[in-house]
Amino acid sequence: MTMPNHTYDTLIVGAGFTGIGAAIKLAEAGVDDFVILDRSDRIGGTWRDNTYPGAACDIPSLLYSFSFVKNPTWSRAYSPAGEIRQHIEDMADAFDVRRRIRFGVEVNGLEFGEADGVWIVKTTGSKRFRAKTVVLASGPLPDHKWPDIRGLETYEGHKIHSARWDHGYDFAGKRVAVIGTGASAVQIIPELVKHAEFVKVFQRTPGWVTPRLDVAMPATAQTLFTKVPAVQQLARQILFWGHEASATALVWDSPLTGLVARLGKAHLRRQVKDPWMRRQLTPDFTPGCKRMLVSSDYYPALQQDNCKLIDWPIATMSPVGIRTSDGVEHHLDAVVFATGYDVHLTGPPYPITGIGGRSLADEWADGARAYKSIQASGYPNLFFMTGPNSGPGHNSLLVYVEGQIDYAVRAITTVLDENLRYLDVREEVQQRYNERIQKRLTKTTWMTGCNSWYLTKDGFNASMFPGFATQYLRQMRDFRFGDYQAIARDTPQSKRRSRAVTTSA
Ligand code: NAP
Repeated sequence: MTMPNHTYDTLIVGAGFTGIGAAIKLAEAGVDDFVILDRSDRIGGTWRDNTYPGAACDIPSLLYSFSFVKNPTWSRAYSPAGEIRQHIEDMADAFDVRRRIRFGVEVNGLEFGEADGVWIVKTTGSKRFRAKTVVLASGPLPDHKWPDIRGLETYEGHKIHSARWDHGYDFAGKRVAVIGTGASAVQIIPELVKHAEFVKVFQRTPGWVTPRLDVAMPATAQTLFTKVPAVQQLARQILFWGHEASATALVWDSPLTGLVARLGKAHLRRQVKDPWMRRQLTPDFTPGCKRMLVSSDYYPALQQDNCKLIDWPIATMSPVGIRTSDGVEHHLDAVVFATGYDVHLTGPPYPITGIGGRSLADEWADGARAYKSIQASGYPNLFFMTGPNSGPGHNSLLVYVEGQIDYAVRAITTVLDENLRYLDVREEVQQRYNERIQKRLTKTTWMTGCNSWYLTKDGFNASMFPGFATQYLRQMRDFRFGDYQAIARDTPQSKRRSRAVTTSA
């Protein structure tokens, strides 16, 4: 086992949108001694991994990006995955972040040394890293999940998971199934029906679908955004407030939620003429409870001659395909699993040991609880990005991430500037915060009784923030030193680093 000899000021786990954004902001704040670890060999996180046909963001690109790294030349209103990944790479290059990344290094444990205020970061190789502060930026959905379907392992055809697309497989002339009808599936299915001989879509729960107004970005708009960045900022603000308004219907279960149901049903009526199919596709849960689906080509794709929607439950998979509970055996060359992710509602999938040997896995066993979604008492100097109760149901995740990054940078510079051994949020403050969050959650659409990945198996909501993005950002701007126990280092240290801004866009 190699013991590290250097102690970084900060270590970031993950080189996706969040990790690169955190690196840019840390460097801007004058923190220079940091490293980014990523298990893969390339920048991009979820936008590197999700390359399935049709992959794109369902939040407009002008809003699904950081306000501090503008891209005036997005090709479409909702840019495709490849363009988003390229944007993240461009960010890394423009701000000279790439040199700080160690690729192929997978973190598999964190241990806090109380005596020296240093996190030991263990990796699957023999290497260990030491850091005074750690930012966990590995994203909310880093690991895909094969579903628990009887007979899955007996199937002899080709299996593809949406999050690890097999680009070598030629769908032309193939009989294909798609299992799942969530956010990934509604993007994949319209593309697959263009290529496969036929596509059978196995639906368990129909979701609420609203139209996606995707257009190519006009060249004049790109030129204007390039020449007058304030116009792009204005467009972003308009999108932000539009999404913010939708919280009144999508976050809270309110009379306005009924309007979303009417919009969804009107979209269904307009696009699907067959009454039986409309019935199959009509959701039976409150809009917003599960993630809203945004698509204008999903319903039309389902009605293509080579596509069939099947809502009989899957009984088992067999060597030749899928058997549904009506006794039909569906013979298939390939099965696409758009069945979602292994969501870590009980914390990262590796041990994190805090003060006095306490274990985060034990403490979060029945659902994660943090302070302002970003820190957990007993685990000082550690910052969770997209952590517990930070998820938006109505706005861009990156708006929330930006608030988290700013908060983390503020806390990290406090630890470093004040030469603190650690900065640990007080237990009672965290508890009060969570009581408030859980109380507010009871009034939200997410708690209206549907089955979603936002909840633990016991129905505890450890993922979503019950409020407007504006409220979330306000709490993240409000760094209260008094909420923490701050312990100084024994050894005096000359004041850290210059505050010179060393990066440029
Ligand atoms: P998902 O939302 O979890 O959907 C999984 C689908 O598979 C659901 O329809 C689910 O049915 C079905 N399923 C799961 N296990 C099954 C089983 N054993 N038998 C039959 N059906 C099964 O996964 P996802 O579509 O990959 O999306 C996950 C998240 O990724 C989204 O919520 C979103 O946050 C993110 N995402 C974002 C974008 C974007 O454009 N920004 C695009 C794709 C994904 P039930 O509904 O009945 O559980």
